[in-house]
Amino acid sequence: MSISESIPQRLYLMQLSTSTIPLPEGQQLDMVCVCYLIETSDGKHILIDTGLPPDIKMPAPAENEKNVVEHLAELDLHPADIDILICTHFDIDHVGYHELFTQAELVVQRHHYELAQQGHPRFATTQSHWNHPDLHYRLIDGDFELLPGITLIETSGHAPGHQSVLVRLPQTGPVLLAIDAVVFQRLFNTNRQAWPTDDNEGQLRASSQKLLDLVEREGVQFVVFGHDGGQWATLKKSPAYYE
Ligand SMILES: [Zn+2]
Repeated sequence: MSISESIPQRLYLMQLSTSTIPLPEGQQLDMVCVCYLIETSDGKHILIDTGLPPDIKMPAPAENEKNVVEHLAELDLHPADIDILICTHFDIDHVGYHELFTQAELVVQRHHYELAQQGHPRFATTQSHWNHPDLHYRLIDGDFELLPGITLIETSGHAPGHQSVLVRLPQTGPVLLAIDAVVFQRLFNTNRQAWPTDDNEGQLRASSQKLLDLVEREGVQFVVFGHDGGQWATLKKSPAYYE
């Protein structure tokens, strides 16, 4: 490896908010809304998603709120410092601040982007965030090595053209960010049932299988699940980082 090669050096897990959703029989669901930042050895900054917009509230009251701009500021960064914004999908809790990242290259699956552009109702309400005229998109098709050590994994099912992210860190090893392909740890299996927020159960199960295979094949050290408040409580969060 040459010294100038750009490889991931730090992974920041940014917790944007937490909420508790009451379930029947006195149970509850602890949810988080999140995004991620990767810093490379040559000083590039790669952001993954941007969270809920300020004007939208989740059904359950959110606590511990700190938006992506505030998280970046804590690291002495501004939206203009972000080189690449990986768009996992255009749901409202993932695209809320995209319009601020006009200096970045936004990377999204072509299939997802084209469906959204064609007026897919699921992404129509979030248009003002992802369809801003000053944003620059790079469209990719399927699994894709974005940089050495950062691979985007096509994982449809939750949404068509959803993508997860594999990050190879120098000390920790490979870390899989499942995003909404697997929102809770207990759903990481192949006989899971789709939730009302999922698009396609067959694809959801196939994507689970694909990620389970990847964990085994790549020796993934840990998987970060998309909205799992219980898991996130145990993880190192920004401004701390994994390296
Ligand atoms: Zn989500």
